[in-house]
Order: sequence, then structure tokens, then C-alpha cells
Amino acid sequence: MLGQMMSQPLLISSLIAHTERYHSGAEIYSVNTGGGVEETTWGQVGKNARKLASALTKLGLEPQARCGTIAWNNRRHLEIYFGAPGAGFVCHTINPRLFPEQLVYILNHAEDKVLFIDATFVPLVAAIRDKLEHLDHIVLMEAEVGDAGDKLPGIMAYEDLLATGDEEYVWPEMDEFTASSLCYTSGTTGNPKGVLYSHRSTVLHSFGVNMTDSIGISAADVVLPVVPMFHVNAWGAPYACAMSGSRMVMPGPGLDGPSLVGLIDTYKVSIALGVPTIWLGLLGEAKKIGSKLESLHRTVVGGSACPPSMITAFREEYGVDTVHAWGMTEMSPLGSVNKPLAKHLELPQDEQHRLRENQGRPVFGVELEILDDDGNPLPHDGKAQGDLVTRGHWILDAYFRSTTEETLTNGWFDTGDVATMDPDGYVTIKDRSKDIIKSGGEWISSVELENIAIAHPKLADAAVIGARHEKWDERPILVAVKREGEEPSEEDVLSIFEGKIAKWQVPDRVVFTDVLPRNATGKVLKRNLRDEFGEVLIG
Ligand code: ADP
Repeated sequence: MLGQMMSQPLLISSLIAHTERYHSGAEIYSVNTGGGVEETTWGQVGKNARKLASALTKLGLEPQARCGTIAWNNRRHLEIYFGAPGAGFVCHTINPRLFPEQLVYILNHAEDKVLFIDATFVPLVAAIRDKLEHLDHIVLMEAEVGDAGDKLPGIMAYEDLLATGDEEYVWPEMDEFTASSLCYTSGTTGNPKGVLYSHRSTVLHSFGVNMTDSIGISAADVVLPVVPMFHVNAWGAPYACAMSGSRMVMPGPGLDGPSLVGLIDTYKVSIALGVPTIWLGLLGEAKKIGSKLESLHRTVVGGSACPPSMITAFREEYGVDTVHAWGMTEMSPLGSVNKPLAKHLELPQDEQHRLRENQGRPVFGVELEILDDDGNPLPHDGKAQGDLVTRGHWILDAYFRSTTEETLTNGWFDTGDVATMDPDGYVTIKDRSKDIIKSGGEWISSVELENIAIAHPKLADAAVIGARHEKWDERPILVAVKREGEEPSEEDVLSIFEGKIAKWQVPDRVVFTDVLPRNATGKVLKRNLRDEFGEVLIG
């Protein structure tokens, strides 16, 4: 032996143990499901996580037993995030916005033994309870059961379960490849698929999130994860925050503009993370009440393309730096983050701003490549567009109850996105491959057209889909939602594209609708729009 370093497994419990020890006083503000804000600390969350781990162990669960959660972002959910995996069980976060049949499928497929639910979801769970084949325990994330016991006989209160746990519980050692959490993709086609994260991938992902050129959370930050904890572990924010010891603000059920502005201003939030639709509501409210969002330094935006007009509004009206990030459930989710290079800082301001609009470059830990239809790499020239594939330290190897052979091609995971990459590795997502519009052999990016349309002052929302066309196969049409009190004409709406894109890319038609259909994670359901409007150019 020439010498060695210690071999310590990368465990989720090490994150909470660290923050409990060195950041125990850092505050966690948590909005209760029934209203009001509870103030606690990382020290208390750490202690409760250990008690929960002990209590779950005493229930006699098998190692790797799945513990489901249907819950908002709150401190009890945070404790489950650490307590369940820390004890060797799997924290399985479930999206309450799924259809009841999908919920039943997921809970049975994952074989959840325990289910933690917020009071909001008692009726939802009561309606499907008798179809859940493996469930032994339901825990209401409240101090007392109250009348939930009438709807769900046998339900126990979280605080009662916690009381059975041992305060002196010591985190057990285990293999770092042990599964830690499970999250199903929304399943826009076919049944939802499970992505099973490991302790190792989660800890490495937290390092990835916390690098300076990534999201870079510091102990001096106050972090507001608006992205739900049932959506890719809230982008890993709870784990990354524990690693840093930052303060956290858990928004509970209120994700509307007024609630968020209130939380940001009251608790001096410095970093907020969420999807673009959330920030539309926030910007509207801040303007209305004249808030300057003074404490906010950064918003991290991902989940769908961030419209450039939103980045501009944040920067010019509030001095907030918008960090555009891209990823997916299968990637834990961090893939690429838009941060500048040294050479960019020498460019004129306008140019710098423009460079901040795309989805950024891969963070260390993630490799990205673009491939043509035959699987050959395409040039990184910012022009060639192809299938975006990935591999790395926190990228899916096989879906839950599936195999690597079924999941990967030549060791790469196909993201299902179409993208370009420039010589510095900056990626521009053109579309989901199934949403890209193929017009007479040319490809038109629906994302690009949406980014332009959404800046129209008379529109509240916009989506672009390919509609069937006799001559061109498909042509883009714009499905638009008017801003309240506005009556823009079709020509008025289309004029926004003038001079911004080639004429042949301009949508053929504008159809107005009241509201865009969105899936459980807030993404526009283009399939539904195609069903409704896909034939408007025919006949
Ligand atoms: P999440 O919404 O958390 O990123 P999902 O797995 O539900 O995870 O969806 C991933 C898909 O969302 C990506 O493959 C991509 O199509 C889209 N997406 C995510 N972030 C962006 C982004 N910044 N710009 C464009 N599309 C994005």
C-alpha cells in the first residue's frame, strides 16, 4: 500500500448530520397546510428526522421499503426526505395532481408500505384507499388526526408516530448504492415510469447543485423552493440546502403570486427555484403591490423553457439574476445551467444578456451529446440540431423494475429533447422531439416561437403546435390566451414575429382559448392541443 484515503459511503444521512451539527440554528420557515407559518431550525429537523427514522424502523419495515408522500413543501416533508432514506427506506414522492388511476398504479407498482399525506389530500387518498394493495400505514402530516380518522380509519398522526422514535437514534452505515428515493415521471405516454435515486447519486447531485457555476447555494442564502417536493426532489434543493446549511422557506400549499411575494419579502429570500408559470404570477403580483423583491438575488428557472422576456423583467425591474437551467426526472434533475464564461464578461451588455437565454452548459458530473438519426455525434456549432443524450454520476441507468438494456442506448440515456450545442457546450433546447414541427422537411422549434409570442403585451399565455397541413405536412399554429381586458386580433398577435424569425416559420394561424391545458408538473399538454386544434388548417 502506498497510502489511502478513508472510505466513507456517500449517504443522505451525512447531509443532515452535517447540518444538524454545524448549522443547527439556521431557520426553516414552513407554511402549514391549514395556514400560518411554523418556525423551526435545521437542528430540530435533524433531530426529528432521526426520531422518524427510528419510528419507521420500529414499525418493522423491510430494508428498502417504500414510504410514499403526497405532500406540500413543508418541514415534515423535509424530515421524511432525510428520515426515511437515512434509515434505509425509500422516500417515494407522489404528485397529487395525477389522475386517481395513475396514483393507484404508482402506489401499487412501487409497493408503498407507508403513506404520509398532508390534510389537503385526505379525500384524494380516501377515494382510492381500497385499491392500494400493499399499504399498511397512513400517516397524516399533522399534530393530530382530527376528523381525518372518519375518512381514513387507522390513520395516525405524524407527531404521534414521531413520539415513538428514539432521540438517541444513530444513523446506520450502508452501501452508498442503496436506493434512497423514488419519483415517477408524469407519463405523458403510457404508464408513469419510476426513477430510483441512490444515496450516492443524491449526494453527488448535491455537490453538483452547489458548485458556483451551478445553483451554488451558500450558508448565507435563504432558499425558497417553489418547485414542489413531489417533483424530482424539488430539484434536489432540500439536500443541497442541508449540505450548505442555508435557511429555507417552505411555501406549503400557497404557490400563487401574492403568497410568494409575501414570503420573499418577509423572510428575505435570496434564491427562489421554480418553473416559468410560477414566476409569471409572482412578477404580476410584485408589480401590482409595488414590491421591489429587494432580498431576491437569483431565480432558478427550469422545467420548461424560460421566456427571454421573463429574464429581462427580472433583471431590469428587480435586479434579479435569472439562472436558466435544464434537466429532467431521469437526471435528478440537474443537467445544464446557464452561467457565463470569463470571455463573456468582456462582451457588450446586450450580447451578454442574449447569451444568458439558452439552457446553459453541462455541470461537472453530466455529459451531454447531440446525435443524428443514425446515432452519430453532430458538430457543436450552435446550428446542428439532434437528439440530446446524456450520461453521468446522477443519470438514470434503468427505470424502476426495468433493465439497463431497455433504458439506455450504447450507455447513453436519450432525453427525448432536440437541441443544438455550441463550441463552449451551451445547449439550446429546441423542443421535445415529439413536439418539434416538421414543415416540408424543415424543422421549426415550437419553443422558439413561444418565447417570442409570450412577450406580446396583450397575451397572457401562448403555445405553438404543429397542425396538419395538406401541402407541408405540418405548419405551426399559435394557441393563445388573451390577457384580461385585451382583445388582440390575429394580425396584431402575428405582428410580434416580424423581423424576429424567417417568414416561413411564422405560425399560419392564431387560435384563442381560455386556458392552456397543463400536466401535473405544469407543462403544457401539447397532445391535448393537437387533439383540439391539430386539424384547423385542413379543409
Ligand atoms: P423537470 O420538469 O423537473 O425538468 P421532467 O422529467 O418532468 O422534469 O421534464 C423534463 C423535460 O422538461 C425535459 O426533457 C425538457 O423537455 C423540459 N425542460 C426542462 N427544463 C427545460 C428548460 N430549461 N428549457 C426547455 N425545456 C425544459
